[in-house]
Amino acid sequence: MYEVFALKYGERDTTKCQFFYRESSHEKLTLDYFVWLILGGPHPLLVDTGFLDDDARARGIRNYVSPAAMVERAGIKASDIPISLITHLHYDHWAGHSLFPNAEFWIQGEEVAFWTGPFGRTPAFRGSANVDALARLVTLNYANKIRIVDGDHEVWPGIRVHRVGGHTAGLQIVTVETRRGTVVLTSDASHFYHNVETRQPVQIITSLPEMLTAFETIDTLAGSAKLIVAGHDPQVAERFKPVEPGIIKIA
Ligand SMILES: [Zn+2]
Repeated sequence: MYEVFALKYGERDTTKCQFFYRESSHEKLTLDYFVWLILGGPHPLLVDTGFLDDDARARGIRNYVSPAAMVERAGIKASDIPISLITHLHYDHWAGHSLFPNAEFWIQGEEVAFWTGPFGRTPAFRGSANVDALARLVTLNYANKIRIVDGDHEVWPGIRVHRVGGHTAGLQIVTVETRRGTVVLTSDASHFYHNVETRQPVQIITSLPEMLTAFETIDTLAGSAKLIVAGHDPQVAERFKPVEPGIIKIA
């Protein structure tokens, strides 16, 4: 059976009005930054890659620790990760790919098309891009390190990616069968529990209907066990079990 861990590698303060769709409150909101590690299969599996210290400095991230260091703290060498499931190509999920030199990166085709197409560079979207990291999609692809996935796909028995879109064009979420039930790693289909639980979207979106449909998909996939892991919510550490600083055991 698989085990799932959330590994926190940084945090940043913003406000609710900067973040939630049509929100008027100026109340403070803290985002935690995570990658997720799945153990118990033939190899360790990583979900997303975080970012490097250049983004941490440029974007005012507090308490940054390299995601590779967090993976090693969880007992796995960064070079021993053969597959990383990339939920989407925003800087905080993709710009750390070089930390995992032996990984193949599984990304939805629509996500790659979006960031190499006409809209990524526009002011509405480019703030979430690390352009150098996006450019390396091409060299990594020609080195056979990118696996383009379209739609829902089984990774190994009991681990699946599900394309939901909404927040980004090809956002995919991940389900993992565990002893406690199905864990749903929502990534940024629900940054906070507030998003999925009140159906309030984030304000960075490519499709509002897809984002709203993603909330339904998350609830359906989670079933009665409700092992939902929101993408940036400090509450993950309260709803699940911290085992060491920055390491939270989900199941
Ligand atoms: Zn994110």
